[in-house]
Amino acid sequence: MRSNLVLAASERSLTVTSPLGIAALEHFAEDVFDADKMAACLSRTTYKKLMGTLQGMQPLDSDIADEVASAMKAWAVGRGATHYTHWFQPLTGGTAEKHDAFLEFQDEKAIFAFSGKMLTVGEPDASSFPSGGLRSTFEARGYTAWDPTSPAFIKRHSNGATLCIPTVFCSYHGEVLDKKTPLLRSTQALKAAVTRLMTVFGLPVEPVKVTLGAEQEYFLVDKKFYLERPDLIQAGRTLFGAPPAKHQQLEDHYFGSIPPRILAFMTDVEAELWKLGIPAKTRHNEAAPAQFELAPIFEELNLAVDHNMLVMEVLRQVANRYGLVCLLHEKPFACINGSGKHNNWSVCYGRKNLLDPGSNPQENAIFLAMLVAVIRAVDLHADLLRMASSGIGNDCRLGANEAPPAIVSVFLGDQLTEVINQLEKGGVKAKATTGQALRIGVDSLPTLQADTTDRNRTSPFAFTGNKFEFRAPGSSQSCAGVNTVINTIVAESLDYIADKLEKASPKNFNGVLQGILKNEVTAHKRVLFNGDGYHVKWVQEAEKRGLPNLPTTLEAIAPLLTPENQALFAKYHVLNATEMTSRYEVFLEDYQRRLTIEAGIAREIAVNMVRPVVFKEYAKLAGVTGCRSLTMAAEELAQRLEQLDAAIQKLSAALESQECSAMRTALREIRPVVDALEGIVDNAEWPLPKYREMLFVY
Ligand code: ADP
Ligand code: MG
Repeated sequence: MRSNLVLAASERSLTVTSPLGIAALEHFAEDVFDADKMAACLSRTTYKKLMGTLQGMQPLDSDIADEVASAMKAWAVGRGATHYTHWFQPLTGGTAEKHDAFLEFQDEKAIFAFSGKMLTVGEPDASSFPSGGLRSTFEARGYTAWDPTSPAFIKRHSNGATLCIPTVFCSYHGEVLDKKTPLLRSTQALKAAVTRLMTVFGLPVEPVKVTLGAEQEYFLVDKKFYLERPDLIQAGRTLFGAPPAKHQQLEDHYFGSIPPRILAFMTDVEAELWKLGIPAKTRHNEAAPAQFELAPIFEELNLAVDHNMLVMEVLRQVANRYGLVCLLHEKPFACINGSGKHNNWSVCYGRKNLLDPGSNPQENAIFLAMLVAVIRAVDLHADLLRMASSGIGNDCRLGANEAPPAIVSVFLGDQLTEVINQLEKGGVKAKATTGQALRIGVDSLPTLQADTTDRNRTSPFAFTGNKFEFRAPGSSQSCAGVNTVINTIVAESLDYIADKLEKASPKNFNGVLQGILKNEVTAHKRVLFNGDGYHVKWVQEAEKRGLPNLPTTLEAIAPLLTPENQALFAKYHVLNATEMTSRYEVFLEDYQRRLTIEAGIAREIAVNMVRPVVFKEYAKLAGVTGCRSLTMAAEELAQRLEQLDAAIQKLSAALESQECSAMRTALREIRPVVDALEGIVDNAEWPLPKYREMLFVY
């Protein structure tokens, strides 16, 4: 039976039947109501007011809402939309939408209408979204408010189209129920802190832009295999599966030539993304078999976060057209690489990227202040960074097989480490062997060659030339959470430096800055690590340095509850203490529920799929006498069957108790028993598609 699946999958790889979407420049952003389109269809005064809102992140002026709404509707209807939705990002980590038709009655005639009020505020029944106790179900009302900093766009389906209005989501009493609001608030906090520091450096006020480029890793498997794997369908990952003889040892997949069916899929994905104004740029095979990556050109943070949510959705939907399933789980397959989301983050002041070393002593001084602020922030708040990238899926990935460990450290590369060492020596006479001490405001930095910085792929938080790349986030996660943390902790660090610098007299500004940077490097250099983050020795070394190592979600979410962290987020008006605590509740519940699902589905597979096959195998052998080989095979099966029954019992007991660690242990223990059976049961009888099939036939 399984052989039919393999055949079907291989045949499908030869014939791509769906029409090919071709990515074309002239279609770029055609489904986005962006500044150009607004300029074309709004009055000059309205357009100017709206642009002021966009740049200043101010609330929309109600005087212009009606005109904007009417123009937006006309544009959307002209492009085939019949419905609109406030598109938001609840704490489930996904996106949510409830469609309403533009349909209304006027003088008993059906018309399409859309008012300023409908554009700016919506009232979904919010009772079924997780709130962590912030809102009781009898008080179900939540409301969504348009976030004009992310433009409206059109989502298409085979029978029509919907106008999507990116929004934030709050409870009726104003408590934050989504991932976007804290992100926007943290961005504002960071912008204020950057502006303050640049003012201290004597620069004129300029717009601040936080930027994000989110590299997205994913797996593709043939849908026929997927449908035969209840674990993939229900848990997003394989709970069983013996390692195939060949997996990624030969390193022949990474950057290999892209198979035709996959390339057709990728092109179609890009066509969809470009229409949505999402600048998909890079595509390639990743390290594991059947693993791929998509990277966009970086954009303003808020927009990039929305765009990444759409990237994940488009990947899933388009895969279906090609008879494929896109797996975004962080660890769909044991023993090979998992999937991450590399979060490339930087800050621009005017046109200058502040994480770009620059070409003169003043730019260097600003760069070093930024760099040291980030180092300080990561060292002080490594726990929060780990928290923001936690989740049951990512627990399987972090620290396993070519993924950064759960310990958060910063990689700078040799050249920059040398600069930091010089900084630490400050005015003190340098030893001849290690170069001159760097004098802030006087010396220029050597040009850092971004392309030749030895890339340390093992580091969770790496400086890569002109940005920081946080590699811990999981492939399925929204970027909102991690960037909310990065923005907030960096804002705090910048304020800490600005506090001190503001007290310095202009005459010894550079001396004071030098002193601050020296002290902060000394205090926080323990978080710097250029070595191999995958090595067990690093775990011991990190412990000696006092760096937190929070291996599972249960430990990783605890930092949401500490008074210091709650005070930090409250100080920057990102989340108050109640909202932080509610997030802890939501994450905890999500973890427990997902774990229970995994345990449940593992038991089902073991009892209903694996056990019957083992019985059948045993029946073939039992009772045979006179052949040593057959008797031994029967004995082995009987033994394994006993192990399987014991493991099932343990899993059942764990499910009964609902105890997380019991469920985790039982899941961990049942897997090798089933995988060993896979190795001895007749290949034709095995009920689950095997790794060698799913990972290599597409
Ligand atoms: P890789 O890390 O795979 O070698 P690149 O260095 O090309 O890839 O870039 C990875 C991602 O970083 C891309 O999405 C790119 O647009 C983004 N990126 C580049 N510069 C910045 C920046 N200043 N701010 C944020 N992201 C950036
Ligand atoms: Mg990268």
